[in-house]
Amino acid sequence: MDSSPAMSDRQAALSREIVARRDDLVELTQDLIRIPTLNPPGEFYRDICEYLATRLGRSGFDIKLLRARGTPGDSDRYPRWNVIARREGAGPGPCVHFNSHIDVVETGSGWTFDPFGGTVANGKVYGRGACDMKGGLAASIVAVEAFVALFADFPGAIEISGTADEETGGYGGVAWLAEQGYFSPERVQHVIIPEPLNKDRICLGHRGVWWAQIRTHGRIAHGSMPFLGDCAVRHMGAVMAEMEASLFPALADKRTAMPVVPDGARQSTMNINSIHGGQAEPERGFTGFPSACVPDSARMVIDRRYLIEEQPEEVHEEILALLERVKAARPGFSYDLDVLWQVSPSMTDRDAPVVRAVDRSIRAVLSCEPAYVVSPGTYDQKHVDRIGRLKDCIAYGPGILDLAHQPDEYVGIEDMVDAAKVMAFAMDDLLHRRV
Ligand SMILES: [Zn+2]
Repeated sequence: MDSSPAMSDRQAALSREIVARRDDLVELTQDLIRIPTLNPPGEFYRDICEYLATRLGRSGFDIKLLRARGTPGDSDRYPRWNVIARREGAGPGPCVHFNSHIDVVETGSGWTFDPFGGTVANGKVYGRGACDMKGGLAASIVAVEAFVALFADFPGAIEISGTADEETGGYGGVAWLAEQGYFSPERVQHVIIPEPLNKDRICLGHRGVWWAQIRTHGRIAHGSMPFLGDCAVRHMGAVMAEMEASLFPALADKRTAMPVVPDGARQSTMNINSIHGGQAEPERGFTGFPSACVPDSARMVIDRRYLIEEQPEEVHEEILALLERVKAARPGFSYDLDVLWQVSPSMTDRDAPVVRAVDRSIRAVLSCEPAYVVSPGTYDQKHVDRIGRLKDCIAYGPGILDLAHQPDEYVGIEDMVDAAKVMAFAMDDLLHRRV
């Protein structure tokens, strides 16, 4: 596509520069995958931050290594390290920031490649985190390095961050950095998060999250005379029956104008995350029988994903009303409802500068119409938006979203090269923008 008529001379030069760095891009991705930054518990954060610091320091960036002390999970054994690299340009202008999380989820079973081997095969790099999101991080680094090598006299500033704990909420990463002022309109103007949303798609934001715990209560008795007790699990069964009868159909009717993908998530959804009732599960290896008891408590955790058209208060009210309906119909029914966690939906405007710049860049690199999407699950945009008050933020990066967290996760090398071009073009566009 280098000879695409839509490309300017600057873009053609950037494109050639990135293609020339293809092997470096692959090796960088391999190196990042080989640092097994599993979260939980949050392993090797310091190692990967030092690796990135060395690399970007060599490319002329000022480096800050920052530990999010006291955030969830932070300890001397598992410190929450983050790295921010900044390079000032030759004159005043906006700051373009690329933010990637450095953590990966557990490997699980079913792998045919070494999850931390960074194997190259079939034009792909394999490993845990290849697409989510070390491939995106590597593409943004190569985009930035190619850009500063060609246009060292750029205006404004460029930042790259590698941040902790996205997979567990981002509290020791972007949330903490935003609280410290590292993501703020005074310091940063445009943010691209290279999560794996496919190279031709612009992700405007994500749905909201509302987690809660429902407890039902009963009375313990001998299992041979259940009528002398009150079974908390049967009460929970009544809650589930009511969910099936009224809640799930109601959620399916709540469609959203957000362009959420896949289509099944273009509505309100709820997952029953877990149910526990009665006696605790026996320890592994215990070969005895349970005792005969009527369960006196049951607990359900629900994971409700909500839309930009909904308010968290309405989501709460809907569950409360359901529990009250069960209570009215069922003698002896009592419950507790506790909200565990809540994240607001986030959606950047289609006319926002970063969206327009990436749209033009996708057209120039791939000669295709970009698709606009919203993620079914959240990512660090919530903290950039809510705590950092930065509205000009999207996710854009190489890799196929469906492969995230799966065995034999991979990122396509050609996709990384193309995404790096798009990022470099978008950076060029945004830095030269008249504000
Ligand atoms: Zn991710």
